[in-house]
Amino acid sequence: MKLDGIHHVTCITADAPRNVDFYTRVLGLRMVKKTVNQDDPTVYHLFYADERGSAGSDITFFEYPGARTGRAGRGMVSSIVWRVGSQQALDFWEQRLGDEGAAPTRGDGGLRFDDPEGLGLELELLTGADAPLVAEHPDIPHELALQGFGGVRMYSSDMERGRELLEQTLGFEPRGDCRWELQGEHRGAFYERLPAPDEPGIPGAGTVHHVAWASSVAEHEDWQRRVAADGYHPTPVIDRFYFKSIYFREPAGVLFEIATLGPGFATDEPIEHLGERLSLPPDFEHLRDQLDGVLTPLPDARAGRV
Ligand code: ZN
Repeated sequence: MKLDGIHHVTCITADAPRNVDFYTRVLGLRMVKKTVNQDDPTVYHLFYADERGSAGSDITFFEYPGARTGRAGRGMVSSIVWRVGSQQALDFWEQRLGDEGAAPTRGDGGLRFDDPEGLGLELELLTGADAPLVAEHPDIPHELALQGFGGVRMYSSDMERGRELLEQTLGFEPRGDCRWELQGEHRGAFYERLPAPDEPGIPGAGTVHHVAWASSVAEHEDWQRRVAADGYHPTPVIDRFYFKSIYFREPAGVLFEIATLGPGFATDEPIEHLGERLSLPPDFEHLRDQLDGVLTPLPDARAGRV
């Protein structure tokens, strides 16, 4: 059994309209699902990804209106890293993000910036055989676009903590003392620990809620049993309608999920129209009329697109 890279990363926004604008217009991702939080259907769960809504490219946000601004600290994800394909792509994004006031900083083979709520994001030139997962945007040449996730970085004060889970249970390969890599059938990903800052973290807007790793549908229950057998207390398998999930916390603090590669976002709307209307899983469909008046109005996620 091998995990197939990152499935999705879920974060928190207190400002859904600005979130839609940044991830669709500025970063050029496609909104592939506009649905509600299954634990509180009066607020959104928004999904942005490549043109097909592929696992491996999917960043999602729970909307918590009025949530305080958070700050990444010990036990929390410090940045989410996307792949890009060339130095020209980094040049392009340095200019584009600078023009948008995102103040990117260029480092060795990468670009670091924050989203409008302070969520740490990076673009990295990563070699690897993973197929580029690209969304089409009229202002962003296809070959310069984001290509799906490369990995995530998190803050820890103990680089050893969680090593057994990563290496023995989940099948990550160590690369040095504080970096691990996965190579699945279709996609790879890295997970890296950075020394934690002194200031404590604050969960809230602009922070990561959890990181989901991808599993085949066939192996998903076996992953649940393996994580349980190794003592990490996963939840039972939960049906999220677009995929099935288990959740458990890695010892250094980040909430992990393992999610299935299917059925996917085209299960309740055609791929050409993903994310255009509010999608409600069958158990929530009866709330549609009520929710119309309650949910935050959002800008057009296809603005400027053909
Ligand atoms: Zn998730």
